[in-house]
Amino acid sequence: MEEGMTSHSPCPMATPNMKLENLIKAALNTSTLKRTGQSGGGCINQGEAYITDTGTVFVKSNSKPKAKLMFEGESEGLKALAGTGIVTVPQPITVLENPDGGACLVMEFIEMKGLRSLAHKLGDEIAKMHMQNVNLENRSNRISEKPQMEYIPQFGFHATTCCGYIPQENEWNEDWVAFFAQNRLDYQFRLLEREKGDREAIEMWSRLQIIIPKFFKDQRIRPSLLHGDLWGGNAAQTKRHPVIFDPAAFYGHHEYELAISGMFGGFTRSFYDSYHKVIPKTPGFEGRQRLYTLFHYLNHWNHFGDGYKKSTMAVIKSLLK
Ligand code: ADP
Repeated sequence: MEEGMTSHSPCPMATPNMKLENLIKAALNTSTLKRTGQSGGGCINQGEAYITDTGTVFVKSNSKPKAKLMFEGESEGLKALAGTGIVTVPQPITVLENPDGGACLVMEFIEMKGLRSLAHKLGDEIAKMHMQNVNLENRSNRISEKPQMEYIPQFGFHATTCCGYIPQENEWNEDWVAFFAQNRLDYQFRLLEREKGDREAIEMWSRLQIIIPKFFKDQRIRPSLLHGDLWGGNAAQTKRHPVIFDPAAFYGHHEYELAISGMFGGFTRSFYDSYHKVIPKTPGFEGRQRLYTLFHYLNHWNHFGDGYKKSTMAVIKSLLK
């Protein structure tokens, strides 16, 4: 982890106000809405647990104007992850717009502690989740002798999801390399240029984008459902199983998933060992990891400012070598 760095931090805190709490009460149809005192100030949002008539919920709130879009994406991501039946995530309940600005996401409360003894299980689950769509595709292709069943693998997602609070462009694309270059890297470089006026980075980008295909030589990449922001701060465990939360989900290259934890730490060796038992590394893995971390460096530079410029430029230079 880089000096003084936490992923997506620091954040402006905003506890749900009375109006929002009344909205939550109405939406959940509960006469009880009592704070448990368990608050989870994440990197972007404020979290607060509440007892309701039917159990405990966890509410994440944010006062930014784009909070609704962010929470809708998170909610869709949680639903997709839960839908695999492989990983454990909090079930999303509803997204509510705050009349005073901002929004909140109400979800199932899960009693959890730091991920330790079950890191190996999480590695195994994540790899199996990544394989689920690939296996499905293989099956569909066998059936697709009937033309109406034809399955076209695509990268992207049906909703905008945010990594931190910056939206990810998720329009479907059949070509992963083009998707990653345009929707992930180019988007972040353009944002840097627009918001921070950084010309140096954009000039380096014009050199880098030409050589991107070389990182994918002989690779046949199939879409896998990704958590999309899987570092140690977004994983935990209950007594029985690992839990992941705060996704920036989309369908992408499975290797992309491993880049942010490699950059910010948080997982023990056992996580990666179990993962690679299911999905072994293929040639060029390390180079692609460096390329995938570039997205996260850029995203941090865009979130938290020029403190990230030096490290981002170092990654770009190493990719250009
Ligand atoms: P942010 O979006 O601000 O990064 P997170 O989603 O990472 O926030 O949540 C911050 C903290 O809140 C987590 O580290 C975790 O401790 C706690 N938390 C998040 N979701 C739940 C949940 N559904 N149940 C219980 N605690 C949660």
